[in-house]
Amino acid sequence: MIDLSALTIAKAAAALRAKEFSSRELVEAHLSLAHEKNPSLNAYLELFEESALAEADEADKRITAGEEGSLLGIPIGVKDNILIKDKISSGGSKILATHRAVYDATVISRLREQGAVFLGRTNLDEFGMGSSTENSAYGPTKNPHDLTRVPGGSSGGSTAALAAHIALGALGTDTGGSCRQPAALCGVVGMKPTYGAVSRYGVMPLGASLNQVGEMAKTVADVETLFHAVRSHDKMDNISCDYEARRFKATPTQAKRVGVPRKFLEKGLPSDVVANFEASLARLRERGYEVVDIELPFIDYALAVYYVLLPAEISTDLARYDGMRYGVYLPGANLLKDYMRSRGEGFGKESRRRIMLGTYVLSHGYYDAYYNKARAIRQAIVSDFKRVFSGPEAVGAIATPTTAAPAFKIGEKVDDPLAMYLEDIFTVTANIVGCPAISVPSGTVDREGVRLPLGFQLMAPHFGEELMFAIAKDAEGNTV
Ligand code: GLN
Repeated sequence: MIDLSALTIAKAAAALRAKEFSSRELVEAHLSLAHEKNPSLNAYLELFEESALAEADEADKRITAGEEGSLLGIPIGVKDNILIKDKISSGGSKILATHRAVYDATVISRLREQGAVFLGRTNLDEFGMGSSTENSAYGPTKNPHDLTRVPGGSSGGSTAALAAHIALGALGTDTGGSCRQPAALCGVVGMKPTYGAVSRYGVMPLGASLNQVGEMAKTVADVETLFHAVRSHDKMDNISCDYEARRFKATPTQAKRVGVPRKFLEKGLPSDVVANFEASLARLRERGYEVVDIELPFIDYALAVYYVLLPAEISTDLARYDGMRYGVYLPGANLLKDYMRSRGEGFGKESRRRIMLGTYVLSHGYYDAYYNKARAIRQAIVSDFKRVFSGPEAVGAIATPTTAAPAFKIGEKVDDPLAMYLEDIFTVTANIVGCPAISVPSGTVDREGVRLPLGFQLMAPHFGEELMFAIAKDAEGNTV
């Protein structure tokens, strides 16, 4: 029996190379545990039993032929807004219930070339809108640490699968925190790459100026492996760029200096969350880091800016789902009613809320007051970050807690969208700025007698992923 709970991508790859087990055995073990756990978790919307085993056999052949690869034969879960050829791609929405992908997203082709095995498609908030995976048309995902609580979102299916040991790695998307926040709530590692580092070709659009494909796994080293595997310049995505040419180089002093926006953190965080954050900082200090206070005056506006810009972009992103081109078509009395029915019944409540919000902030008469104002403040936030990441006082990373609290109860925030939006207070900034960010498990706190995980977030300069991984590895392993 393979002990999946002790396995990481790195360990599994070494065991596959040493012929301790085959990829088929590894995938079978994952599938059988998934059959046991998924009915209560709802982490996977679908397990790709047949194709996963075929891919595993293919990987075994490559291993036998002497090929070595850090992802060869490794089972991963894929958020269901990333296209996998011939599979249903629902985006967590009813409107795409019947939509089958006709091509692979670039991140999928990259992983396929390297021999990764796609275990299944994971649950998400509809099109990535939400912080709890409760906005899925296919039912909520549960947190493996406490089934009465949310796993976070929107990539909650991916992080729940990792925490339940029914995937070794996972892909998600991160527009405002959707890989980092659920990673924190499930006790796994989740990252958002620099804007433009990873191709978005074949990924359902949500907030074109903010979104990236994020990588998730149980350790920082595994997330690094996934990131290196999917990072690429892709002519099919015009925001993707040549990473090597832009790679960030830090001085040795900067690489060992971490900044904390103290004022921003004085927001009435629970005392055990503060203590947990301080313990991670202490851990970095013990490892030779200088921890300094920094000022980011405009960061207070980040959440408001995000919830103006993102709905504006969403209102155009979601215009393509009209019942004609993709997925579900619900006929009405005439063409207009066809659209109204398909969209009215196809989209969930949060999607409709954001379409209306977005249309409002972009409308004539309000455009300058909201959308343009938010864009201007976005630039001020970007300048704040540029300042702290450059010059003689430059920090190598900015540290914050990933969330203000551990996982909340299912149903607790569904009727209070503003409370739900506050979940993203620490994560949206990296998307606004376009810099890379990662959440590392930082131990647990007690809620109603259950130990629940928290995350420690690091944000690094653009194209500074290597620097970010190095610091994250030093922060990793806090078990307070
Ligand atoms: N929770 C955020 C939102 O609802 C983040 C979404 C995301 O990153 N995809 O918009």
